[in-house]
Amino acid sequence: MIRGGLINPLHLYENTERHIMANLGIPQNTIAVLQKYNISFQKKFGQNFLIDTHVLEKIVAAADITKDDLVIEIGPGIGTLTQYLCEAAGKVVAVEIDRNLIPILENDTLKDYDNVEIINADILKLDIEKLIKDRPVRGKARIVANLPYYITTPIVMQVLESRAPVDSLTVMVQKEVAERMQAAPGTEDYGAVTLAVNYYTSPRIAAYVPMNCFMPRPNVDSAVIVLKMHEAPPVDVKDEKLMFSLIRASFNKRRKTLLNGITTGGLGFTKEEVLKAFETCGLDPAIRGEKLGLPEFAALANALGERTV
Ligand code: SAM
Repeated sequence: MIRGGLINPLHLYENTERHIMANLGIPQNTIAVLQKYNISFQKKFGQNFLIDTHVLEKIVAAADITKDDLVIEIGPGIGTLTQYLCEAAGKVVAVEIDRNLIPILENDTLKDYDNVEIINADILKLDIEKLIKDRPVRGKARIVANLPYYITTPIVMQVLESRAPVDSLTVMVQKEVAERMQAAPGTEDYGAVTLAVNYYTSPRIAAYVPMNCFMPRPNVDSAVIVLKMHEAPPVDVKDEKLMFSLIRASFNKRRKTLLNGITTGGLGFTKEEVLKAFETCGLDPAIRGEKLGLPEFAALANALGERTV
């Protein structure tokens, strides 16, 4: 049975016959579960569990979840955020790599939710598009996660590039990563990740989260960022792969000019071809890549794609 409304923060963890739901956002409850199962945090899996009910509520509010929605959670841990997601969503699929945590989720912390499915897998090896298509819902598919920091960017990029029918990703990431994702052209944080994220989504930082909201405490601050997928790409580019190769070549050699970055980036373009494309796009040959936005990179990719020197 799922209780409606918010989880009552007064319900503390008790190992009794009678079920009392444990809100793991309360530190004592998390400590009780850790002690009961003798869990030692797996650093290699980036395990930092949330212990702050306000932050958990903020994540759920930012994700804009309805009872018609399917939520995929990456890395439920002991089920802290999952409990909140189960209260808000129609269905939750929680994908956890650490097999030692699965029995705790199934038999204890999530056992009273009949709208959760727990999958023991590495999210990077999962076909997210198939996972969503096999679980049709009336509402939208959303990804919500307190991501393991050691693989934040690969996970986000994999979801974006997969073209899985996801409406939004609401993810806790390292503060600097969130700031890079929503940086403006020409700033220090601006880079290939900014452009990739903005090609697929509109990013918005919803909250900053200090390190003391986690157990164990990480040595970096965090932020919750909402990446709302575009319905259509914001620029018209004929060859996406070429555009992203240009972006990568340009930021790999940040201190050099864009012209230099592209001609020495192993992309197979001669200096003459690149200069001709620059002329078509009205770009100064001395410009650096960090000054360019998506429209300019798209135009350059289109011009180079039709090179005729
Ligand atoms: N959601 C929990 C919370 O907010 O307290 C735990 C978040 S913890 C930062 C990240 C979780 O992701 C851990 O439980 C970790 O085991 C899991 N994880 C790490 N790598 C993963 C992967 N490749 N696929 C699925 N889960 C992963």
